[in-house]
Parts: sequence; C-alpha cells; structure tokens
Amino acid sequence: MNFEKGLLYLPKIREGVKIELHRKFDDKVKSVTISRTNEGKYYASILVETQNPRNKVVEPKSRACGIDLGLEHFVTVTNDFRSYKVEHPKYLLKGEERLKRLQKSFSKKQKGSKNSEKARLRLARQHAYITNARNDFLHKLSKAIIDENQVVVVEDIHVKGLLKTRLAKSIADSGWSKFLSYLKYKAEWYGRTFIQVDRFFPSSKLCHRCGYKNDDLTLHDRTWCCPACGETHDRDENASINLYYVGLGRPEVTPVEQALVDDRSPNGLPKKPSCDETGSLTSYG
Ligand SMILES: [Zn+2]
Repeated sequence: MNFEKGLLYLPKIREGVKIELHRKFDDKVKSVTISRTNEGKYYASILVETQNPRNKVVEPKSRACGIDLGLEHFVTVTNDFRSYKVEHPKYLLKGEERLKRLQKSFSKKQKGSKNSEKARLRLARQHAYITNARNDFLHKLSKAIIDENQVVVVEDIHVKGLLKTRLAKSIADSGWSKFLSYLKYKAEWYGRTFIQVDRFFPSSKLCHRCGYKNDDLTLHDRTWCCPACGETHDRDENASINLYYVGLGRPEVTPVEQALVDDRSPNGLPKKPSCDETGSLTSYG
C-alpha cells in the first residue's frame, strides 16, 4: 500500500491501482481479495494482522442517554447535557426520490433491450449507493452515541410497529432495526450497557417532570400539556427524557395521577385533561 498516493500494489500491476481508501492501517498485510459487484464496481478487501482488534475505547462524557425513534426526525436523544433531534439525512431522501424515478424508467423499458440493460445498471448503482449511504449514516450515528454515553436506552420497536399499516414504507426505510442492532453490538464492543425497554413502558405518555400518565395522548399529538404540573411537552423529547431516566436507574417516576391530581369529573368518570390558557398547545375533544 502507498497511503499518500492512495495506491494498492497487486501482483503483475507494478504501477499500482488507484483506490478509494476507507481507513489507514499500519499492520502487516496478509492477503487481498478483489471482488466485482452487480453494478460493475471493484472492491479490494485487505486482511491485516493486527495487535489491536478494535478501535480505542473512549471515556463516556454522559452517564446515560434515552433515544426516541421518530418518523419526522430519525431520532430524538436526551443525555446528561441536552436533548437534540437527528434528521434523516437530505442526501438519503434525495437518493430515494431518484431511486423511485429509476425504478419507473426501468419498468417502462422493453425487456432485453440495450436501454433496459442500461436502466438496470443505473438502478442497481443507485440501490447500492442508498444501502451504503444509509449504513454509513447509521454506523456514524451509533458510534457517536456509544462513544458519548455509558448507558443507552431505546424503546421497544414493536410499539412503533403498530404504525406499520399506514407507514410501512417510511418505517422500513428509516432503518430503525438496523440502527438498534448497531447500537447493541457496539455497546458490547465498547463496554457500554444497552437497554431496550419493555413494550408496555409508556415512554410517550408519562410526563417526565411529575410522572402523570396521559392516557388520552394520540399518535397525532406532537405536543401536549401536562394537566398535573402544567409543563408543555414536545412528544418525542419527553419520550427520550423518560428513556434517559430509565438509564439513570429511575424508571419509576412516582405516578401522581391518583395521588395528587383529581382528574375526575363530579359524576366520578374520568374527565379529559385540560390546560390553562398559557400552557395549552393541544386541544382535546
Ligand atoms: Zn406533569
């Protein structure tokens, strides 16, 4: 290897082959395998003998983090320092639009024709691009989260699976299960704790501030106001804070729905929560 020039020397190719290098190594090369993909790209897989099989383990800055999986945003994360949202990368959204166009164009071409073969190649290339780009995004994000936190808490993915009927495509595309599997094995590699909460843990419905459980929350409520303490919640952020608390070892915020708040109407039936003018963002009824 010549790292400066980006050249790989192979038997019988004395001048070397220009390659796109993904990482440097200073270990002894054992073997090189060259492969060619469907879309006509060449890959060189280099096996090296090394003393350090894994990347360096860094000290986590944050004790824990909670991760809410979203549709509008890819994830909402809360750790010791802040809550933040990570968007679906624009290049992926654009790449998927292009994929759809190429699929259409391919299906219109006459089977077996030259143009059809060209369209098939373009489609295969775009498929490979999207897969690689998404994996890259998921690897970088999961690695950053694992580096930063000692305990990583996520919700049970089956809860979100309930949305499948309407949003199957966007869920499949969002790569949640792959993301969780990356988090899980990286946590093992780097000595972190990965927790997936029980599907019955109401991470979205609990007020992270006082523990009130809002059973009236619907899938469409993006924000809600806690009738017990008056706090206004961003749905995803509140969920990620509750998951963060699980990571800190306080999954049970003392429920106050019976103890401190009388949310029943005079005839004894539960009444819908309502907020005062200043805090109200969600309308009920
Ligand atoms: Zn509250």
